[in-house]
Amino acid sequence: MRQKLIIANWKMNGSTVLLERLLPPLVRTSVKPVQVVVCPPMAYLAQAGALLAGSRIMLGAQNASEHNSGAYTGETSVTMVKELGCKYVLVGHSERRHHYGETDDLVADKFASIYKAGLVPVLCIGETEAERDANKTREVVLRQVDAILEKLGPCALFNAVVAYEPRWAIGTGNTATPEQAQSVHQMVREHISEADPIVARHMPILYGGSVNADNIADLLAMPDIDGGLVGGASLESEEFIDTCRAARLLRNSMEESLP
Ligand code: PEP
Repeated sequence: MRQKLIIANWKMNGSTVLLERLLPPLVRTSVKPVQVVVCPPMAYLAQAGALLAGSRIMLGAQNASEHNSGAYTGETSVTMVKELGCKYVLVGHSERRHHYGETDDLVADKFASIYKAGLVPVLCIGETEAERDANKTREVVLRQVDAILEKLGPCALFNAVVAYEPRWAIGTGNTATPEQAQSVHQMVREHISEADPIVARHMPILYGGSVNADNIADLLAMPDIDGGLVGGASLESEEFIDTCRAARLLRNSMEESLP
């Protein structure tokens, strides 16, 4: 069985005070065996790392450069985020693709740096509303996956996570239905399986897009949805803890029903 994973993406939100408020209660709450990852802004990685020290909660970065060092003003390398304790790095988030013009090619280069540093890339993929309306969801998400497969091969996905985040669901309150999300997750898994069935079977595929404590259980009840990438709802301590708890309860009930 694939491990359930909940990743909090704080985007460009937070402050030293907010970290002190959000992280200690999360550390005190056991949501075992769900793996929780928190991705605060770069500026707060060190403080978050200190607050999470000794807990099961892992630290992630929201982005990293494709370069390792040098004259790239304003950038942060994978070596730097690794030194600060990050184990996961988001790559290709739709806000980076949309606001900063990140192409599939650049996303693949960033993915390569993350993977070569021994960190876990969380590859974000997803279509816009116009693309879904034009029946292009399959074409768009598989193109985003193929950018990695063609440049790096399927083994690069072995220790990776994919997050399906339809752009029309991010920050809008319009969560995809569990069936809509499941059909894309299944399609992505089957596509990766054609390249490497073992990688496809083991790879967690998360859903992101207005996930909260009320809708996570129905999403995670789907066979190919292995967790959530949570934006807005991760900035409220109780809401995020309840979201993680709902994922844990679901996993326990699934385990109990196993023969
Ligand atoms: C995200 O930022 O990845 C995200 C899914 O945001 P939200 O949960 O707010 O839709």
